[in-house]
Amino acid sequence: MPARASAADRDGALFSAASPAPAYAFYPTTHALSDDIGAEDYRQALEHSNAAARPLALYVHLPFCRQACFHCTRQPVITSDTRLPESYLSRLDREMVLIRRHLDPAREVRSLHWGGGTPTFLGLNQLSDLIDRLDARFRLASDRGREYLVEIDPREADVLTLRHLEALGFNRLSLEVLDLDPEVQQAINRIQGRGLTEQLIDEAERLGFHSVNLDLIIGLPRQTRDGFTATLAQVIAMAPERLSLFHYRHHPERFPIQRHIRIAELPGPQETLAMMDTAYRMLAAAGYVHLGRERFARSDDRLTKDRLAGRKCERHDLLGLGVTAVSRLEDLHVRNPLTLEAYEAALDQGRLATAAGHRLSLDDRLRGAAIETLMSELTLDLAALGDAFDLDAEAHLAEPLWRLAVAEREGLVERQDQRLLVTAKGRLLVRQLATAFDAYPLTPLPRQSSHAS
Ligand code: SF4
Repeated sequence: MPARASAADRDGALFSAASPAPAYAFYPTTHALSDDIGAEDYRQALEHSNAAARPLALYVHLPFCRQACFHCTRQPVITSDTRLPESYLSRLDREMVLIRRHLDPAREVRSLHWGGGTPTFLGLNQLSDLIDRLDARFRLASDRGREYLVEIDPREADVLTLRHLEALGFNRLSLEVLDLDPEVQQAINRIQGRGLTEQLIDEAERLGFHSVNLDLIIGLPRQTRDGFTATLAQVIAMAPERLSLFHYRHHPERFPIQRHIRIAELPGPQETLAMMDTAYRMLAAAGYVHLGRERFARSDDRLTKDRLAGRKCERHDLLGLGVTAVSRLEDLHVRNPLTLEAYEAALDQGRLATAAGHRLSLDDRLRGAAIETLMSELTLDLAALGDAFDLDAEAHLAEPLWRLAVAEREGLVERQDQRLLVTAKGRLLVRQLATAFDAYPLTPLPRQSSHAS
């Protein structure tokens, strides 16, 4: 057993706040995609998906921003030329036409999400133009239960913008607040007064938008526990229905704009953990329920009620439109090109812009389900997981479970027969815990050696 013990101790680094961990919005993450998968695979998967007739979710990526924020990981197109979206909109329209050819027209779009970049970089006429094109190409739902969300940079929207978006059919908003501390805002090149957000929240409520979400980020330069506590107190006073608490990922080798950030100004792992712990406590005291991952919602919000009632979200096929956009069908993930030039060139040649993808194996889907459940519910029932996939999950996931044995000794998870439970200490590191299941890790994971078992 000594070999196993020493390996396991080395593996402890896997579960520290300093170890890199993706957000796992989906699994496998985009770095597992390969250019072996292309437009023809996407076309076939679109046609195949019609048989299951799942509702559609559309994500439209609008990449333009007026000014670069130094923490940004979205690789936006920085410009002040407000005519630039015109040619982009015509490419989006071509992409819609190409995709629609392969879809059953009866399939309804239940969920629409405009993200960026800054969607409201587009003028009001351009926003109208985009919704008209979407409406012409797809069957957009019009009932109150649809989820039509737009991301808002409060510096780039006013009450008129919100009124316009509401008239176009949007019923949900997500506002990027990040941090209200002027020192932090200066360090990320994003000066954004609190009044901008308050004004938009008030107007959103008056217009009948539901479940307004505010995005905050932990781990930004010059962030301190006191400063972030002050931000949280102000945000809680605004009483949004939902809050997302994201983690800053510092990868200047992938996101060159982050070279403007001074490493010495980043909070250390312990300070980051302390901020997260403070945030969890303050939000709980204010009546917010942690819904797993980075999500919090007020107890009167639909998401919280659904969670308490055990209701699951409806499954969609996700179609991504635009540069960098990702689409997810039953067993295929594909991504569009990362540059505007490559995206536009593909569509100008009359072909789907798919640049990379990944065909999911049974193992991918099993691990993805394990990650999703662990991160969303902070628990994982191996017996239920095995039943869902008709296999012995404990045997199939022996290596990830071996890695998690270290986390168990550190009090981050508890094992009760077939159930893994993330502890109060472990929930602060749940992304790192999830990496144990990742077969395509960002950095190599420890492996169970044959003489260690
Ligand atoms: S953080 Fe948002 S607003 Fe800032 S540059 Fe990135 S995409 Fe644009």
